Amino acid sequence: MRYDLHVHTHLSDCASREAFFPLYIQAAEENRQTLLGFADHSWASGVEGASSWYRKQPFERLAEQKKQLTDYLAEHPTSVKVLQGAEGEFANFLLGIDEEAAAYADYIIVPHDHVHMKGFVIPEDQTAPREMAGFLLKSFEALCKHPKRGLFVGLCHPMVPCCMPWQFKNEVYRYLTDAQLKDALTAAKEAGVWIELNLSEFACVPPEELENYEYIRFFRIAKEVGNTLYWGSDAHAPKTYRERLPFAARVLEVTGLTEDLFGEAEKAMLSRV
Ligand SMILES: [Zn+2]
Ligand SMILES: [Zn+2]
Ligand SMILES: [Zn+2]
Repeated sequence: MRYDLHVHTHLSDCASREAFFPLYIQAAEENRQTLLGFADHSWASGVEGASSWYRKQPFERLAEQKKQLTDYLAEHPTSVKVLQGAEGEFANFLLGIDEEAAAYADYIIVPHDHVHMKGFVIPEDQTAPREMAGFLLKSFEALCKHPKRGLFVGLCHPMVPCCMPWQFKNEVYRYLTDAQLKDALTAAKEAGVWIELNLSEFACVPPEELENYEYIRFFRIAKEVGNTLYWGSDAHAPKTYRERLPFAARVLEVTGLTEDLFGEAEKAMLSRV
């Protein structure tokens, strides 16, 4: 894992209050990372329909941290390229990003599966495994074909019931066939949408059960389809970030992926000004 585009600072309401960027930058440097991207939860002020949780987290607040980052990096030069991105939202087919908001972030990643936000991201009557599988497929494909697709680079923790127990994730995957996953991943590839390998979605599984984790299928198929992959630890505290870095090798092993498959996204982000 040479880089990470999905790390939360204290600006995210769900992150540790101690999640300050210098701690992450130090850890990235010690682990010889090339790139560190903060992706704090944000919702565009200009888009109606935010939940109360998102209303407190507008894109505008990223500007202050971006300025602090610039000042910090001027005083602490590092070989790590540091970016202030954002994790947007796709709530029941409503994209919480617009052009104005996007200007506050160096890049944006979008989830379609914060299904723990019942009644907001997913309708209450679609939370059973079979219905949820259908919802995941539809929302994934809708994002890939979204008219504002140009505002984000990729999908974070794609096609997985985020924040649910791993056994439940396996239940949902009983209703997702390889052919359906392949169609979805092909749509992502055609739209140039990057696919995140989210380490937190693997860390939730007990080590001895990791090989029985159905979500692995999604990445085996992504390899076959040739999707552009990127790394995301989804760390909400610097301590978690440090723990996730060595875990990445195990995740590569079980998914059959290799580090070079993550190189295209890395190169694209490193070449951004
Ligand atoms: Zn969070
Ligand atoms: Zn998320
Ligand atoms: Zn996140």
